[in-house]
Amino acid sequence: MADKKEILSVQGLKVGVDGKEILHGLDLVIREGETHVLMGPNGAGKSTLGNALMGNPKYEVTEGSAAFLGSDLLEMATNERAAAGLFLSFQNPIEVPGVTLSNFIRSAMEACGTKLSLWNFKKEAARQMEVLQMNPEYLDRDLNVGFSGGEKKKAEILQMLMLHPTLAILDETDSGLDVDAVKTVSTGVEEYQKNQNGALLIITHSTRILESLHVDYTHVLVGGRLVATGDASLIDRINADGFEQFTRAE
Ligand code: ADP
Ligand code: MG
Repeated sequence: MADKKEILSVQGLKVGVDGKEILHGLDLVIREGETHVLMGPNGAGKSTLGNALMGNPKYEVTEGSAAFLGSDLLEMATNERAAAGLFLSFQNPIEVPGVTLSNFIRSAMEACGTKLSLWNFKKEAARQMEVLQMNPEYLDRDLNVGFSGGEKKKAEILQMLMLHPTLAILDETDSGLDVDAVKTVSTGVEEYQKNQNGALLIITHSTRILESLHVDYTHVLVGGRLVATGDASLIDRINADGFEQFTRAE
């Protein structure tokens, strides 16, 4: 609906890495509470988009614009983007020895303007960890150190649920997870979608994470260009016939 608030508006975005152009002019508008799915073959530039939007300095925006809640996103530092309500869940979450999961999330929340007492923080974290079927003892462990692949992804979703971002970009949050872990992660995303009215850009290869989620738009990225946009039914077309159907027309 056109009267919903625009959260992210990207126009003609070109992004390069090490002087090589990866995204060749991308347009994307995400409105309040919408869920967008981004699919595409390996190397298409999906993670590049996530990194460029989050402000990773390795990814150089050479042309185009990106507005987030009306502000020029490209002028903002990464921490300012996070404080404004943008969240990126990494494809490969890093291990941070010496910083507990609890301290990491609390300082991220403080940086985003939410200050909870330790008691209230632990209460809220325990509630969300129950959704994610995570042992609350993990709060006192160093971030991602010795976590399994599934636990790392759950820790990312926990951060999202605690931070209440306006737009969350999930980069292959479901990849490498067993069936049960995908279901649990999906339940966490559903909690964000339904109870926090969060907007989502879900980058994925699999549709299992989408089964219990409402999808508004699906986009196909091939070779740094959006080659198709549709509703949730586009996902079935991709599953049936792959990405080649979109590249043939080029
Ligand atoms: P996708 O996430 O769709 O699989 P990526 O955005 O990771 O694709 O990568 C798109 C292209 O950009 C690839 O050719 C990849 O090698 C290159 N690329 C992405 N990130 C980097 C980086 N940090 N350093 C060098 N090349 C990169
Ligand atoms: Mg990727």
